[in-house]
Parts: sequence; structure tokens; C-alpha cells
Amino acid sequence: MIRNLVEEHVVTAYDAMRPHFPDFCGCDICREDALVFALNRIPARYVSSRTGSVVTEVNLEKEQSRAAIEVAMMEGMRRISLAPRCGVKGKTSAQ
Ligand SMILES: [Zn+2]
Repeated sequence: MIRNLVEEHVVTAYDAMRPHFPDFCGCDICREDALVFALNRIPARYVSSRTGSVVTEVNLEKEQSRAAIEVAMMEGMRRISLAPRCGVKGKTSAQ
């Protein structure tokens, strides 16, 4: 089985940062949009679940990866909260 380790980090970043963005809707649509936004901006780190060596390698650069992921997630939440696809009305009356 092949997994993208970045995906787990992105989900973790979302859960950690979501409370800091009260304007962000957070419904399933907006959540996935934010996750996709960040994932598309971070190089994927694919690992096979049968080997452990690649996982160690990724862990070594975790701090750097996490910083990049948090920046991407912050940008994603900011953009999506301005124009959420689910159509929820933001605090500003843009329409
Ligand atoms: Zn929403």
C-alpha cells in the first residue's frame, strides 16, 4: 500500500489551525478544499507501508516540512474563507 505522508501532516495541521480561523467555515466542502489547497502546494512524500526506511528519512526533515505545510494551510484557509464553495455567508457582505 502506498501512502502520501504529507497528507497526514496536512490533516494534523488543519485540526491544529482550524480554531485560529473563526471566519473559516469548516464544513466538509471547505475542509476538503483547504486540505487540497495545501496538498497541491507541498511535494508529496510517498512511502510504502512495507518499508520503514523512507519514514525515518521523512521524520528527519519533519520540522521543515511542517513549517511549509502550516504556511500552505494558512493561505488555503484564508482564501477559502473569502469565497467558500459551499456558499455559506461570510461576515462581509460580498454579494
Ligand atoms: Zn463551508
